[in-house]
Amino acid sequence: MNFIQTRGFDTTKPETVTFSQAILAPIASFGGLYVPEKLPELGRDFLEKHLNSSYKELAKDMLGRFEIDIDSEVIDEALNLYDSFDDKNNPVPVVKVKENLYISELYHGPTRAFKDMALQPFGIVLSSIAQRLNESYLILAATSGDTGPAALETFKNRANVQVACLYPDGGTSDVQRLQMVTEDATNLKVIGIHGVFDDAQNALKHLLASESFKAALKEKNVSLSAANSVNFGRIIFQIIYHIHSYLELVRQNAITMGEKVYLNVPSGNFGNALGGYYASQMCVPVEKIIISSNENNVLTKLIKSGKYDLRESEVVGTTSPAMDILKSSNIERILFDMFGFARTRELMENLETQKFYELTADELTTLQNSFDADFCNGDEGKVYIKDTFTNDNYLMDPHTATCMKSYETCCDPKIKTIAYSTAEWTKFSPVIANALTGEVDAHDIDALESISQTASLEIPAVIKGLFSKEITQKTVIDKEDIEKEILKFL
Ligand SMILES: *Cc1c(COP(=O)(O)O)cnc(C)c1O
Repeated sequence: MNFIQTRGFDTTKPETVTFSQAILAPIASFGGLYVPEKLPELGRDFLEKHLNSSYKELAKDMLGRFEIDIDSEVIDEALNLYDSFDDKNNPVPVVKVKENLYISELYHGPTRAFKDMALQPFGIVLSSIAQRLNESYLILAATSGDTGPAALETFKNRANVQVACLYPDGGTSDVQRLQMVTEDATNLKVIGIHGVFDDAQNALKHLLASESFKAALKEKNVSLSAANSVNFGRIIFQIIYHIHSYLELVRQNAITMGEKVYLNVPSGNFGNALGGYYASQMCVPVEKIIISSNENNVLTKLIKSGKYDLRESEVVGTTSPAMDILKSSNIERILFDMFGFARTRELMENLETQKFYELTADELTTLQNSFDADFCNGDEGKVYIKDTFTNDNYLMDPHTATCMKSYETCCDPKIKTIAYSTAEWTKFSPVIANALTGEVDAHDIDALESISQTASLEIPAVIKGLFSKEITQKTVIDKEDIEKEILKFL
């Protein structure tokens, strides 16, 4: 299958590209994104067929229907990475929390957050394309905490790929920082920046646009690539678990085949929610997709009012930092699917030039037929964490907790909800300890111990071990020195 472009095509690029090409150069004409020419129509037959399939069997068949230009053996190798999740036979457990509310746990991979779901297999796929082309790629990543560890974990020791990962020193949790600075593979470079996440992100954008940097890379025969969440090579792996979660509900006799459900997704850059939307277009019977946000609530406003407005907004720091985003990139693919390329280009250009766009009344109705939304602030989130633990004996992280409010405000209680849990409690332990016991400013190690006791949960070995692991990545520099540092590493 070929991929087409959300803003139409400007003749400087091919009109359609293959999956591999869309992965290597994810930005399309006019700054748009790549989308499949046509989603595979799977329908109810596909669901029936996979009622008793394993996660990998389901995944293999779904990926096959996209007819992507990746060898079958490479896909097998990529999917085998799910074997390293906690339960090889069920990498994504779906747990009943209370009447009509089920949580699909996407965090059972090596770095304990949902980024592993897509980045684990994506690493194999990208490395295989690089080897096939006999080219060497530098992946640049700027992280506020979850993408960095997941990208390092997937690319470590992979052929033809090197990674430089920028993080704000002091701007991540202890666990997230340790996950990065204890990585010792020689193809990985982790760089702490004096500054906040925006500084790391801006430094990365500056590098991507720098002619001197590109020339220096060319001299070393290295091409640049990005593993960010607009890359369709990540999105494709995020459709599978939505289908899996629906089938799990059927298997658990919570619903009958064909019954509609809500998908409730804690959202930032909208990759997870987009995967749910594609799954609903392909085969999953969905009542609505509920978009849950924190205080950075542009998506709530868009879905409630049709206005995407960045004129007055600034990103605010929250207790769910992986969702601290105002420009939610994957929304563009929804606009394209609903309104076509000409309108998408117009809306996105308005957003870039005027920091604003507004849907027509008809367009808003179309959007609201598929989506509803609400946001939950940090204090409300902590109450949900504590109440759900006390009443339902289920411990959730602050990102997942944003779903609890929209579950109450957006969902018809007679219809079952699948909410998605995007991080294990171990990744955001100080906030959770504060929610459970009121203790403040705990370091991760103390918060982990205290939650472990309060909730009688064991700290996973991969997390506990971080605190005694040798720190191998010691570079912390000013942002002016990043380019030099990366070239030195290469
Ligand atoms: C990345 C992330 C999100 C947001 O996911 P998107 O696909 O960007 O919407 C939510 N929660 C956690 C813990 C994450 O790491």
